Amino acid sequence: MKVEVITTGTELLLGEILNTNFTWLAQQLNLRGFDVLYQTTVGDNPKRMKEILDIAAKRADIIITSGGLGPTRGDITKEMIAEHCGVDMYMNLEVWNHIHDLLSKRNICIAENNEKQALVPSGAIVLHNEAGTAPGLILEHGGKTFIMLPGPPFELKNVCEKELFPYFEQRFPHLGIIKSHTLKLRGIGESNLADILDEIIFHQSNPTIALYARRGEILIRLTAKASTEEGADALIANMQEKVEKVVGTYVYGYDDETLPEVLGKELLSRQQTIAFAESCTGGLVSSMMTDVPGSSEYLKGSVISYTDVIKNQVIHVSKTTLSKKGAVSEETAIEMARGAREVIGSDIAISITGLAGPGGGTRKKPVGLVYIAVADANGEACRKFNFGGTRTQIKHRAAMAAMGFALDRLKESSHTNAEETIHDHDADR
Ligand code: ATP
Repeated sequence: MKVEVITTGTELLLGEILNTNFTWLAQQLNLRGFDVLYQTTVGDNPKRMKEILDIAAKRADIIITSGGLGPTRGDITKEMIAEHCGVDMYMNLEVWNHIHDLLSKRNICIAENNEKQALVPSGAIVLHNEAGTAPGLILEHGGKTFIMLPGPPFELKNVCEKELFPYFEQRFPHLGIIKSHTLKLRGIGESNLADILDEIIFHQSNPTIALYARRGEILIRLTAKASTEEGADALIANMQEKVEKVVGTYVYGYDDETLPEVLGKELLSRQQTIAFAESCTGGLVSSMMTDVPGSSEYLKGSVISYTDVIKNQVIHVSKTTLSKKGAVSEETAIEMARGAREVIGSDIAISITGLAGPGGGTRKKPVGLVYIAVADANGEACRKFNFGGTRTQIKHRAAMAAMGFALDRLKESSHTNAEETIHDHDADR
C-alpha cells in the first residue's frame, strides 16, 4: 500500500517549525506495514496544492495530509481535496455541535468562520477530534484514499490513535508490520564494522541492516517486515544471531539502552562502586553517569582534576610525573586513577586526560590524544586513543570510551586477573 504524506503550512517551508508530524506519521505507518514512499511539504497556496494532489494521486494509493483544516481562509486542504475529487461539501451537524460544545467549554465565542470547519466533503468519513475543532476526514475516490488530519501535533496524534489506526485495522487487515531492533556497539570504528559485516550486508533483504555512526558509538538497525509481530521478531532474532556471531563482543546494549545505564547495571549486579578523575572531559562522564536515576548506588564521587595543582594536591599525581611525562601521558592517567580510587574509596576508578583542542596540540601530542586509565583490585591499566573531531566531539568520545573501558574491565575481572598493557584503541573518528 503506497503512501504519500503531504504536510501543509508555509511555516514549515520557512523552517520555522520542525516537521514532527511527518516523522511521527512515518514511524507509525511503517510499523503498520504501509510503504511510505513520498513526503511533500507545500505552503497554503491553492495552485501548488492542486499540483501536489494531482501528482500524489498518480503515484500513491493513500494520500495523507496534515494541517490546513482550520477556520481561516488560508486553510485550504479540505477544499482542495473536495475539488480534486469533484465532490460538494455539506454542513455536518455532529461536527458543528462538537465545535459548539468545545468552544463554549473553553469560554470562546463561536465565530462565523468556525462554520467552515463543520463542512465535510460528501461521502467522507469523519474522524472525531476530541482535542480540537477540526475533525479528521477520510475520502475514498477513484481507487485512492485521501486522509485529512489536523495540523497541531497533539490533535493529529489523538485523531490517529483513537480513530484512524482502528479504521486501518478494519480496512487493511492484510497488511503486515515492520519492526526494528537496534544493536549498540562501541570500541569499533564504522568502516571496520562495515568491513566485517560486508558479506551479511551484501545478502541482506529482510531484515535489512543499516549502520549509523553516532558520537562514540555505532548503531546497527535491523528492520524486518512480516505479516505478524511474532514473524518479524523471529526474522530479527535470526539476523541478530548472525551479526552477534561476528561482532557480538562490541555490542553493549539494545534499543534505548545507554552506556551509562548499562555500566550502572553491571556495577549494581557486582555490587561495586566507581569513581572518576576527569581532566579533559571536565565532568562530562560524571554528568552522563548521574543522568541515570539511582546512580548514587554505585557512583561514589568524582574529581575534576583539570589543572596540575589539583591533580597533585587532590588525587596525588606526583609532581615528577607531571613535569617529566606531562599531564597528558600514560603515567599521569594511571596515577590519576590510582589516586582517585584511594581518595574516594571506590572499587574501581577511571581517569581521563587528554587534549580536546582546538589549540595546544604538538606533533608528539596532537589534539585528540587521550589517555584513559583504570585502577581496581586487579591493578592498573591504560588505553591510548587518538580521537578526531571538534572539542565537544572529542570530549564526548572520550567520555564514551571511559565508560566502555570500565565496562570491559568489570567483565574481564570475572575471568582474568591479567593486567592490560597499553595499546592504541580504535578511535571512532
Ligand atoms: P488549526 O488551524 O485548527 O490550528 P490546522 O489543521 O489548520 O489546525 P495548521 O494551521 O496547519 O493546522 O497548523 C496548526 C499548528 O500546528 C501550526 O501552527 C504548527 O504549530 C503545528 N503544525 C502544523 N503542521 C505541523 C507539522 N507538520 N509538524 C509539526 N507541527 C505542525
